[in-house]
Amino acid sequence: MLADYAVRAEDSQGRRHPEPAHPYRTAFQRDRDRVIHSRAFRRLEAKTQVFTRRFSDHFRNRLTHTIEVAQISRTIAGQLGLNVDLVEALALVHDIGHPPFGHAGEKALDGAMRAHGDFFDHNLHALRIVEDFEQRYAAFRGLNLTFEVREGIIKHSRDYSAAEFPHLSEYLLDQRPPLEAQLIDLTDEIAYDTADLDDGYEAHILSLEQIRAGLPLFELFYREADRAYADAPDKLKFNEALKGMLNRLVTDLITNTSRRIHNAGIGSLDAVRAHAQRLAAFSAQVDEERRQAKQFLYQNLYYSRELEPEKVDAERVVGELFDHWMAHPEALPGNYREKAASEPLQRVVCDYIAGMTDPYILQQHEKFCR
Ligand code: MG
Repeated sequence: MLADYAVRAEDSQGRRHPEPAHPYRTAFQRDRDRVIHSRAFRRLEAKTQVFTRRFSDHFRNRLTHTIEVAQISRTIAGQLGLNVDLVEALALVHDIGHPPFGHAGEKALDGAMRAHGDFFDHNLHALRIVEDFEQRYAAFRGLNLTFEVREGIIKHSRDYSAAEFPHLSEYLLDQRPPLEAQLIDLTDEIAYDTADLDDGYEAHILSLEQIRAGLPLFELFYREADRAYADAPDKLKFNEALKGMLNRLVTDLITNTSRRIHNAGIGSLDAVRAHAQRLAAFSAQVDEERRQAKQFLYQNLYYSRELEPEKVDAERVVGELFDHWMAHPEALPGNYREKAASEPLQRVVCDYIAGMTDPYILQQHEKFCR
């Protein structure tokens, strides 16, 4: 039961290399399956989300975070009558371009690139992975994903100007992406705002008192849980409060997006694309609550003293290996040495490092930088 503003698989703008239709899977189901079967997807298991494995095996990594984003996205997409298969493919692929060591790794890699007049962007890197680096099929390089999935990879979290990124012009940069792609950045944030509170609490970096005092939204649901389950252990009341928060964010995103679609009189995918703003959005009040949660996490978790050593390590490991391969390109693996003949060396080194898992980059650092 797709809404009239949803993306329909049969109307897909297609793949770079045309392929016959599959007998029982739609184009977007195939794309989702191709992502799941890719190497880059499997590597997410060994990439940091916020906490490295040093803390606990119970915490999220990029793969389990990705699965949580997919779960939340499917629920919301189903309620809005969007194409759930496309949404799932986009959710599963949304973090595939992330380097090792979470945001610290990303910052370090971007910093190293900027020293060479270049930059690192995880969406653009994700596109390079699915278009080129993944090699599974005899007939073409990359995963040969549909236009809509590639467009979503680029446009889900930000806009790119055609003037600055002429090589992306095929992705209709002057138009909004379909709602299926618009959702992903918001569901990503719902997933990590709640999950990082959970992991931060389990890691004893955030205390219950601190979260209750600093986050009115959490406090609201914690008090409710405390009334309903006065004798329950704190952690279970904590879980109930998180569940309340998650539910509020999800429900608001569904109802507010639905209201915006209705108020704007949107009745087709073309109208979604042509609309001046993105239609997927929280209400003003819940958006403010979301902003508070995010700010709380930045102040008390992401920039905490406890996570500082991980960040320092990440920047040192990424920075030193980058410099090593820039000075010794002959030490790169053969396929990267070949690439360096046709692309700037810093881009090749960046691609190599960005693909690594946390354990692998540490092993490489041990080997080359000790
Ligand atoms: Mg994410």
